[in-house]
Amino acid sequence: MSRAGRAEITVDLDRPGRSAGHLVIRPMINGAMKEIRSPVYVFRNGTGPTLLLTGGVHGDEYEGPIALANLVSGLDVGKLAGRLIITPFLNVPAIRAAQRCSPDDGKDLNRSFPGDPNGTPTEGLANLVATRLVAVADFVIDLHTGGGRSSWIPCAMMHPLSDPEEYERTLALVTAIQAPAGVVIDESDKPGMFDTYVEGLRKPFVCCEFGGGMVSPENIAVAKVGVRNALRHLGMLDGDRELPIWRGRRESRLIEIPHLGYAVEAPVSGLFEPLVEIGDSVLSGQPIGRIHSFDDAERPAVTVKAPENGILFHRRAAARIDAGQRSAMVARPLQRA
Ligand SMILES: [Zn+2]
Repeated sequence: MSRAGRAEITVDLDRPGRSAGHLVIRPMINGAMKEIRSPVYVFRNGTGPTLLLTGGVHGDEYEGPIALANLVSGLDVGKLAGRLIITPFLNVPAIRAAQRCSPDDGKDLNRSFPGDPNGTPTEGLANLVATRLVAVADFVIDLHTGGGRSSWIPCAMMHPLSDPEEYERTLALVTAIQAPAGVVIDESDKPGMFDTYVEGLRKPFVCCEFGGGMVSPENIAVAKVGVRNALRHLGMLDGDRELPIWRGRRESRLIEIPHLGYAVEAPVSGLFEPLVEIGDSVLSGQPIGRIHSFDDAERPAVTVKAPENGILFHRRAAARIDAGQRSAMVARPLQRA
């Protein structure tokens, strides 16, 4: 089979109205060809931008896929201006396995861009998304959560882009989503990220982390409202922006993690006992968690301290933690240049 025949999209991205099909990749696994299909939905009406919404890049993060499934089933294409491409369950093998990465190759889809049409299943999927979906998109919003590992203030995130125009266009979208936090974060682990690939094309990319720990109705509601707000901001849907309720408050604040000195890695392995909840204010040096050895309960627990003043933006949700894994992250109010 020719290279081009190994991957395809079974939907016409240009057709007006509502269309449904699949992203199909046919990688070789253990010498045999396997077919992997991810559903894709296209809504096209009138004139307007193309927005790509992706969920399920990681298979153990659920609020985004659930919010997008609701959007697909409930959206009236007649009320849309532009083109909306939705992949609610992008990494189907990982979702089926309820794990972050595909069990077919163990690779992280969000570290596999721009992928390889002749590569592993995850690389093939990344390549199909990059070459066919991102190629026609003006904006990309990718919906994540902390999975079972970590809790985040539900947020829309972007990187601190060096181009002022791209920075402002992306920050406007981050702000419009009206999640409890809009975040500018300088991450270290950028090679292969979906974010990095799309940013390199000078297209606004927003990564949302709509909670984590356990799937919750509150975080799903934030995700649903956030997606609708994005569509309104881009002129693709009518209506006023909504401000979702989170922890009893209607609030959306802009914060930043200016460097990784705002994150704390676990100094030892053990069981992480959080002392502070996400969203709470913390002072530099304040104990925010303890790590207990599970070899010996009499051994003193190791205290994890806030590295900076700010609010607790992220914390370990799964108690079991290994030395070097991230236990918490603090953020400060966004400081504009
Ligand atoms: Zn994720």
